[in-house]
Amino acid sequence: MERIAVIGAGLVGSLQAIYLAKKGFKVEVYERRSDMRKAKLSAGKSINLALSDRGWKALEGVGIAEEIKKVAIPMHGRRMHLVDETLAYQPYGKEGQSIYSVSRGGLNQKLIEVADEFDNIQFFFNQRCLDINLSSNTIYFQDETNNQQQSFTFDRVFATDGAFSAIRQRMMKQDRFNYQQYYIPHGYKELSIHPNADGSHKMEKNALHIWPRGEFMLIALPNLDGSFTCTLFFPFEGKDSFASIQTEADLLAFFNRTFPDVLPLMPNLSEDYFANPTSSLVIIKCNPWNYEDKVMLMGDAAHAIVPFYGQGMNCGFEDCTVFNQYFEAYAGDWNKTFSEFAKTRKPDGDAIADLALRNFIEMRDLTADPKFLLQKKIENRLSERHPDKWVPLYSQVTFSHIPYSQALKNGQRQDEIMAQVMNTPGIENNWDSEEVESKILSYLAL
Ligand code: FAD
Repeated sequence: MERIAVIGAGLVGSLQAIYLAKKGFKVEVYERRSDMRKAKLSAGKSINLALSDRGWKALEGVGIAEEIKKVAIPMHGRRMHLVDETLAYQPYGKEGQSIYSVSRGGLNQKLIEVADEFDNIQFFFNQRCLDINLSSNTIYFQDETNNQQQSFTFDRVFATDGAFSAIRQRMMKQDRFNYQQYYIPHGYKELSIHPNADGSHKMEKNALHIWPRGEFMLIALPNLDGSFTCTLFFPFEGKDSFASIQTEADLLAFFNRTFPDVLPLMPNLSEDYFANPTSSLVIIKCNPWNYEDKVMLMGDAAHAIVPFYGQGMNCGFEDCTVFNQYFEAYAGDWNKTFSEFAKTRKPDGDAIADLALRNFIEMRDLTADPKFLLQKKIENRLSERHPDKWVPLYSQVTFSHIPYSQALKNGQRQDEIMAQVMNTPGIENNWDSEEVESKILSYLAL
């Protein structure tokens, strides 16, 4: 009987364990932290994530999508809060297409709960993976409660231990292992908007709120308890930055100037700002993701990306779907599955990393630009009238299962076309004309 380890019971590890167990394998899951089902998730501190089609498909694959949907809040579009306190709105996709705000902790707990119902999955909490001997596939663990160390040897290891993966650290010492790490100049801080006294939301519930301000932005995602989890994406240094805000007076003056409509919604701003940590944002690319047919990196351990496309978890979940498809296509041949998955999935990990960085500029800057909003209107009109010819890039990434690398290529082609269209004199007035439409169609036919 194969001995299989999953390292890290985060979002991706827990899901991959379920996929493996459903195939009849006996799976051991080792997690550094204690059992999160026993930890109470504190209200107002619940970090939430946007779940979209790729993630839903992976959850459907193990039969839990419907249950998660019951505790997810659909967000139909972006509600932009401009600095003059006017509002703008951009739907995410066509009627009925939404992304969903879900509690990260709640989703992780649910996945562990479902996994634990399988007799062939065993969880070991408080077990930190220290290192792996790649030639024997022996993993060294430390019990976080008493510092005792032990080691076990496995046939197969799935490393889902996140962006700073201990398993990847060892793989990096292998000959011809490539590794790239880049911290963007921005970090983030969680803030919150509490519910009204009657438990209702203080802003429109079914939208992702954005305050785009050029070099920085604030976003807010709704929670079920009526609160919003807000994230300030802000440079570490510079005129307006984490470094420039040292006192409560600095903070209030800054919010007053840049986010005036937020202040009345956040009486707890100073408390949150100075109590919550400032976290950094890293992009990690590496290659190869596998070591022979023994070790496979998945999720953030293989591809950590910035959060601006809301795709990190979705991509990690899609890893599970795709791995599973290869495993079935190769009738359980580990060797072929490991090498094909690592080779073909890697360009998709790279593509979503690039797309996510590009979307940061779109979110923080362009969503407040009338020309950009006009371009989106033209694209939406075109995709409504010719859905077979034009799918907006956002929809390809968020509402389709096209490989990310293909979506990136399609998006580059669309950019070239739209650059020409937006340069047409008078486009503001005839954007919805037959003439503009046939111009785009003729570019597409080239
Ligand atoms: P993780 O969630 O990091 O889980 C890794 C697990 O491994 C953890 O449980 C950890 O304790 C454990 N572990 C780590 N080291 C060891 C060790 N040595 N031994 C044993 N166990 C170990 N994604 C989206 O799809 N949509 C979003 O809207 C979104 N928003 C985001 C917002 C922010 C601010 C950030 C930072 C990320 C966001 N993401 C989003 C990305 C998403 O959070 C990650 O892509 C996702 O959590 C990756 O899951 P994972 O299981 O690979 O890694």
